[in-house]
Amino acid sequence: MKFEDLNLLKNIQQALTEEGYEAPTPIQQQAIPIILEGKDLVGCAQTGTGKTAAFAIPILNAQHRIVGSIKKVKYIRALVITPTRELALQIGESFDTYGKYTNIRQLTIFGGVNQTSQVDQLKKGVDILIATPGRLLDLHKQGFINLDHLHTLVLDEADQMLDMGFINDVKKIVKLTPENRQTLLFSATMPLPIRELADTFLRKPEYVSV
Ligand code: AMP
Repeated sequence: MKFEDLNLLKNIQQALTEEGYEAPTPIQQQAIPIILEGKDLVGCAQTGTGKTAAFAIPILNAQHRIVGSIKKVKYIRALVITPTRELALQIGESFDTYGKYTNIRQLTIFGGVNQTSQVDQLKKGVDILIATPGRLLDLHKQGFINLDHLHTLVLDEADQMLDMGFINDVKKIVKLTPENRQTLLFSATMPLPIRELADTFLRKPEYVSV
């Protein structure tokens, strides 16, 4: 299988070609068509399998259609929750790379740093937000983040978020988003609390495992 077979928008395909990506990895082959269809997904995959692109590419593809057609969207359309600053920054770089020929505005926020520049960016408008749980809840509480119009929620490294004690924060965040959202959950392992999380918050998810 080649990326061309996925019928992505040419803006996205062009960025992938320039990155030297020829074939989708197994998690991408399985997950991208499901996500493009708007379905919920549970992906059992470790870092290194290409799972970031597996969700970033279809999210960019869907959002570029919308943002491209109405010029400026006022609300956050996709949110990625991930446990650490390092992961958040890596995910942000991936969205930058694959989305370089789109006009999608994205922002990465995390704790441990002054919030001023993050807040300034949020005020200007953001289509895709990548965040660690604590800072997301903090800035939401202060009124800087509106998730009422969210289309897609990604819970990345769910088992690591559980291990780091973020599970209640994650549940709080999910409850701030619309019920009709698309939810994607990625985890390297599937302990019971993660399966329960998926059962509670995902609607008829497809399961993919690599
Ligand atoms: P991840 O599992 O998301 O951390 O990705 C691992 C690495 O694989 C990253 O450095 C990506 O740039 C790279 N990568 C992801 N998908 C592909 C692909 N289809 N072809 C080549 N490299 C890829």
